[in-house]
Amino acid sequence: MLLNTNDIYPDLTFLTAATVFAESGDYQVRVIDAMIEGRMLPDELLKELEKESFDIVILKTAGQTVQSDLKLLEAVRALMPEADIRIAGLAAIILKKWISNNAPYINEIIEEPLDHYALKYIGKKNIGINDLPIPDYTLVDYTKYTDEAKGLRLTLIASRGCPMSCLYCPYKLCYSGYETKSTEQVIENIKRLVELGSKEIQFRDQYFSADRKKTKELLESIIEQEIKIRIVIETRLESLDEEMLGLMKKAGVGMICFGVESADAVLLEDYHSIKGEIRRVKELIDHAHSLGIDTMGFYIIGFPEETWEMAQSTYDLADYLDTTYVVFNEYEHCRFDIDDNEYTPELFPPFGNTNSIEYQSVLDIDEREYLAYIFGIRYAMRTSYEDSYRYNYKLVNENRKAIEKLRPLATDLKRLSECVREMRKNGRMDP
Ligand code: SF4
Repeated sequence: MLLNTNDIYPDLTFLTAATVFAESGDYQVRVIDAMIEGRMLPDELLKELEKESFDIVILKTAGQTVQSDLKLLEAVRALMPEADIRIAGLAAIILKKWISNNAPYINEIIEEPLDHYALKYIGKKNIGINDLPIPDYTLVDYTKYTDEAKGLRLTLIASRGCPMSCLYCPYKLCYSGYETKSTEQVIENIKRLVELGSKEIQFRDQYFSADRKKTKELLESIIEQEIKIRIVIETRLESLDEEMLGLMKKAGVGMICFGVESADAVLLEDYHSIKGEIRRVKELIDHAHSLGIDTMGFYIIGFPEETWEMAQSTYDLADYLDTTYVVFNEYEHCRFDIDDNEYTPELFPPFGNTNSIEYQSVLDIDEREYLAYIFGIRYAMRTSYEDSYRYNYKLVNENRKAIEKLRPLATDLKRLSECVREMRKNGRMDP
C-alpha cells in the first residue's frame, strides 16, 4: 500500500525542551503546537499571544514554514518589544547568516538540538542523552496526536544519531555521533506513555537496532515486564535477523520502517550507503510478514545521477520487495555550505518538501516530481483504482493545488490565514 497520511506527530525535541524548563521549577511554560490546537492559524496565534506576555519565546521552524515563521516572529516582536526571541530548527541553522544580518527581531539562533540547549540554558554541564528528561506530554493536549488508523500514538527515543554516514541523510545535519539511553529510562518512558492511554508507541530513533546488545536488552525487558503495546520502529533492515525479528514480535513490534532508497548498488555505494543483498532483504521482509509484523519501505526518487532507467529499476524493486507500505520520496539535496554561504529564505519554497539548492542532475526538478508522483499512482493501482484515486488524487493533488494557491501568501500572514480558513470552510485541504 502507498502511504500518504494526515497523521499528526509531536515534536519530541521541542516537548523535551519544554519539560526541561518546566521541571526546573524556575519557568512557567506554555507550549503551543498549532497542529493540535485546532490547527491554529498565524492570525489566531498572534491573537492568543496578545493575551499574555512572555520573557522568552522559542519558535522551532522548518524549511516548509520558515518564510512564514520569520514574519511571525517579526509580529511577535511588535507585540513583545522586551521579550527574548529565539529560533530553532535545521532551517534556521542553514539560514543563520541571513537571519543574523536581516532579522534584528530575533535575539538568538539555536544551533544544537533544542532539548540539549534547554539543559544548558538551565545550567547543566557535560550533557549526555541520559540527562534528557522523559517528555511530559501533559504540557500539551497529547490526545490529538493520533494515527488515523490506530488511534493515540505517542513517540519516544531510545537512542539519538546514527553510526552510519549516508551522504543523503538529513539527520546527519542535526545530530553528531550516536548515543543510547539506559534501558531503565526507556522502560520508564514506555510505561508513562502506556499510562497516558497510548495505543501505539513509535521510537523516533534514526537507527533503532544499531546497538544489537542494547536492543536485545530493551526488547527482553519489555517482554519480562509484560508491557503490552504496539511498537513502531525505524531501523536498517540489514541489522536484523530471524532471531531479532522473533524477539521484536514478542515485545510487541507491529511495524518496522526502513530505507531501501534505490535499486542501484553502485549509486548507493557512492553515497556511502551500505545495504544488504536484495535476496536477503526480501527474506527478512517475508519473515517479518509471516510473524505478523508490517513493513514500510522508503525509496528515494531522483538522485542527481539517476536516469529514467535507474528510476524504473527502483520502482521494480519496490514492486518485488512488496512491503506493507511504500513511500516514494523525491531526492532532497542536503549538502549545505552553512558556514561559507549566506542562503536566503527563498532557499525553501513555502510548504514544499524540497529546497531550491542548485546541483547537477540528470533529471530536472519537474521530471523528478513527475516520477515520484507517477510511481505513487502506479503502486497504489496494484491493489485498486479506488485506492489510487483516494491517495493520489484526493490527498496528493488537492494538497498540491492548495500549496500552489498558498505559496505566494507565505509572508502575508493575514491573507494566508484567511485563505486557509476559506479553504477549510469549503471542505478543501490545507497543506
Ligand atoms: S542509516 Fe539512516 S539514519 Fe543512518 S546515516 Fe543512513 S540514512 Fe541516516
